[in-house]
Amino acid sequence: MEYFYGPVPSRRLGFSLGVDLTPKKTCTFNCIYCQLGVVTQPKIKRVFYIDLAQFKQELKTILAKNPKIDYITLSGSGEPTLHKDLAKVIKVIKEISEYRYPVAVITNSSLLHRKKVRDQLMEADLIVPSLDAPSAKIFKKINRPHPKINFYKIKKGCIQLRKEFKGKIWLEIMLVKGVNDSLEAADKFRKIIKRIKPDKVQLNLPVRPSTEEVLVPDSRQIAKIKSIIGQEVEVVATFPKDKRPKQADIKEEEILNYLKRRPATSDDLSSSLGINISELLKYLAKLLEEEKIKAKIEKDNKYFLIND
Ligand code: SF4
Repeated sequence: MEYFYGPVPSRRLGFSLGVDLTPKKTCTFNCIYCQLGVVTQPKIKRVFYIDLAQFKQELKTILAKNPKIDYITLSGSGEPTLHKDLAKVIKVIKEISEYRYPVAVITNSSLLHRKKVRDQLMEADLIVPSLDAPSAKIFKKINRPHPKINFYKIKKGCIQLRKEFKGKIWLEIMLVKGVNDSLEAADKFRKIIKRIKPDKVQLNLPVRPSTEEVLVPDSRQIAKIKSIIGQEVEVVATFPKDKRPKQADIKEEEILNYLKRRPATSDDLSSSLGINISELLKYLAKLLEEEKIKAKIEKDNKYFLIND
């Protein structure tokens, strides 16, 4: 499958069938916490990347197996709004799936100031825009954007989206210790969030390996930030164990496919692919030996990554 992965248990969306529209790390930003590896120049030009016929066929093949899906989610290995004509992509997904599943779009908010981009998202059911910075200075530091994108455009885009979009908006803030986790920053976030009026605010933490060394704020600081922001805020936690899939149909190919999208711990893989941990460790040992994957210790967790 070139354009789809999963369904994988997502920390936010339950069982999410991921849609990958862009080549790896095709993004308007180059965030310090990005887990997609290799730094490339941020891009701003929108391109119609996918082969629509193949895209449709892949989706039909997946849905024919009748998997458990809570959301079909446009996110993947880059910024989905860099794909031109997203409205068409969302329409195709809805038609082929006979409107059975809600469509979510996870975006870094960088192009939401453009009316054309917002218009193309109107048929989605849920939009998860990011707002990692409460000021222009922090924005540059954490998101390292394309030169044509600035903090005011991000803010304006999110506010405007809320006015026009009838579905749900869950605003995400990635908290990085020493960068955007001060109480002063939290107060600024609060003021901006009041203007955006999202349905929910989710505080995410950079717990996966990234190219830069980034630190996770401690739990007391996170609690203070939550109380300052002061509306319905949740910290995105690991996937609940009771939602694990019951069936295990594991193949090395599935492990590799999963790791191509994101690094994962053995626990992540075990929950995602529904396999007993000791059995999974045997597959991982074999893939390590064959040097198809590698391991990396990050914040006391052992992550597995594709060895490319
Ligand atoms: S917005 Fe997402 S894909 Fe783009 S650089 Fe940041 S973390 Fe990576």
